[in-house]
Amino acid sequence: MQLTNEYDIVVAGAGIAGISAAVKAGSMGARVLLIEHYPFLGGMSSAGMVSPFMKSMAGDKELVNGVYKEVEAGMRKLGGMIDNGFYAWAFRSVANNLLSQNNVDIAYNTDVTDAFVEKGHIKYLTIATPHGLSKLYARQFIDTTGDAQLVALGKFPWLKGDEKTGQLQALTLFFRMGGIDVEKTAEYTKTHKEDFLPWMDFKYDFSKIISIAGYTGLIEKAKKEGRFPDEVDYVFFTTLPSSGEGAFNTTNILGIDPSTSSALTQAEQKGHEQVASITDFLNRDVPGFEKAFLIDTAVQVGIRETRRAKAQYMVTGDDILQAAKFDDVIARGCYGVDIHGQKGEKSRMDELEEGAWYDVPLRSLRAKDSENLMVAGRCIGATREGHAALRIQPTASATGEACGATAALAVKLNTSLDKVPYEKIRNELLHNIDA
Ligand SMILES: Cc1cc2nc3c(=O)[nH]c(=O)nc-3n(C[C@H](O)[C@H](O)[C@H](O)COP(=O)(O)OP(=O)(O)OC[C@H]3O[C@@H](n4cnc5c(N)ncnc54)[C@H](O)[C@@H]3O)c2cc1C
Repeated sequence: MQLTNEYDIVVAGAGIAGISAAVKAGSMGARVLLIEHYPFLGGMSSAGMVSPFMKSMAGDKELVNGVYKEVEAGMRKLGGMIDNGFYAWAFRSVANNLLSQNNVDIAYNTDVTDAFVEKGHIKYLTIATPHGLSKLYARQFIDTTGDAQLVALGKFPWLKGDEKTGQLQALTLFFRMGGIDVEKTAEYTKTHKEDFLPWMDFKYDFSKIISIAGYTGLIEKAKKEGRFPDEVDYVFFTTLPSSGEGAFNTTNILGIDPSTSSALTQAEQKGHEQVASITDFLNRDVPGFEKAFLIDTAVQVGIRETRRAKAQYMVTGDDILQAAKFDDVIARGCYGVDIHGQKGEKSRMDELEEGAWYDVPLRSLRAKDSENLMVAGRCIGATREGHAALRIQPTASATGEACGATAALAVKLNTSLDKVPYEKIRNELLHNIDA
């Protein structure tokens, strides 16, 4: 495939938000290029090994359909997904198919390194490829880099971390283990309920994914003996499709701002140190893990929060928890405010009432002061609390899809983003806002 240097739409960053944006815009006939730093797709859903998909059902109403459901269906067909848990290989395989079916060009091994802006319009990006630097022109740009890279490179306004303290959520290096006797360890949880997190109900259906979080009594003892990381308070894992396998969202890397490469190096080193101690602890101390073994660690440390855009509207924690509705709704969600606390900061998980959901407004995808830049996924315009709810994969997919639809309509109608009639955007997204 020969790439050109001019497209209708350039999407930067191929995590679930960028993939969803590109698939939607491609399906509407736009000429789309998706740029990705890695030589593979998925961002946190793949390099970060993040699984499962967080919930997107309000009661029995599914809030996110569209590209997200196509990814899910594809992974189930491959045998790479059960319940809401999935393998990174299945995600990459399905996403590659969807992008090629919708005629999206992909530039792997490519970094956006600069943005040339005139009167709020991004005119072109500078990209670094294995062949050197080149310019890339487009009419519309979508920032799904997770780190709001296009926003920052274009010198559009952005925020980072807590509004008062600047603190960023903790980092986590995911890992997977095999050979776990899940039934045995589940039995142990039932006899030590006080050592497990309050949301656990200890009723297990082994045909479905199960989640276990705790072992605090055993951890306390191991910490006293100096063989468990101080930063980690509990072991959290979900079982994956194959029997005896678990995905561990357990390491807890604190005091690091992952937006610089030196800090990321430090995070990577700390993450691997923690994995070694935690797996050793599980083997030695935890019933059911006697024969368990480390299968793999994620390609990179998982990043929950870095830069996010200042947008025309910033979704707040109150919008989330009070289930706000907006006239310019483009997506919906029901996940609450989930902040993995930094050093000296308490973690939070504030949920919505059962069955409630909130709208995500189009304006939160419109990077402030820009004419042709939209943001989705982790780059979304929100306060720290709002961001802590909207960052999950189903919502990232829905906001990406909304960017793809809006940008494709702007191209089709030969108009600016702000002049695309909302009714037309709405019609493209009914499955995510009216179903
Ligand atoms: C530890 C952890 C646990 C989580 N748990 C869950 C969970 O259980 N369920 C859930 O649904 N969500 C969970 N999340 C949240 C969710 O995984 C992410 O917020 C979501 O996947 C982000 O998607 P995204 O597309 O916005 O960004 P990302 O997945 O971060 O993708 C951004 C992409 O942009 C690329 N990129 C960056 N800069 C450039 C550049 N300059 N040029 C080219 N490419 C670039 C990156 O390589 C990456 O591929 C978790 C997150 C973490 C970190």
